[in-house]
Amino acid sequence: MTPVPIADDLFTWPDDEPRLIGGRCTECGTHVFPLRTGCAKCGGTAVERTLLARSGTLWTWTSQGFLPKAPFNGEFAATDPFEPWFVGVVELPGQLRVEAILVGCPEGGPAIGMPMRTVTMPFRTDEDGREVVTFAFTPEEGDMPVSPRTPGEADHA
Ligand SMILES: [Zn+2]
Repeated sequence: MTPVPIADDLFTWPDDEPRLIGGRCTECGTHVFPLRTGCAKCGGTAVERTLLARSGTLWTWTSQGFLPKAPFNGEFAATDPFEPWFVGVVELPGQLRVEAILVGCPEGGPAIGMPMRTVTMPFRTDEDGREVVTFAFTPEEGDMPVSPRTPGEADHA
C-alpha cells in the first residue's frame, strides 16, 4: 500500500527530495512553518505558499529520553523497551528554524552546525494498514542507514 503523509500540506509527497511546505508573508518577508494564513510578525494576512529550502544547518539538538504524550506516542515512539532518539532544530538559510526528529546521525551524536537535509521516515501505521510518514532531518554527509534511533540503540532495534 502507498504510504501516506502524516498531514496534508506539510511536505512535498511523494518526493525523493522532499521539501517542507511553508509560507512567506508578502508584506514583511517572514517565513512560517507549517503554512498558515496569518503572519506572526506583522499581523499581515497575505501569506503565500512557498517551498522551504531542503537543506540547512543544525542549530541545536537534544535527545528524547522518555515517551512523549499523544499524539506523538505512536508506533515510532512506543517501542518496548523505550528507545531514545534525537530531536533537533535546523536553520534553513534566510528562512526559519524548524524542529524535527533527526535520523542517521553519526556515532557520538549530531553536532551543532552540521549540514542537514529534509527526508521522510515511517512514523506509524494507520487504521487502514497504511504506512504514515513524517518529515525528519538527516546529516548531508555520508550514506548512513536512516535509523531514527540513537547509535547503539539502532543495533538491536
Ligand atoms: Zn509579515
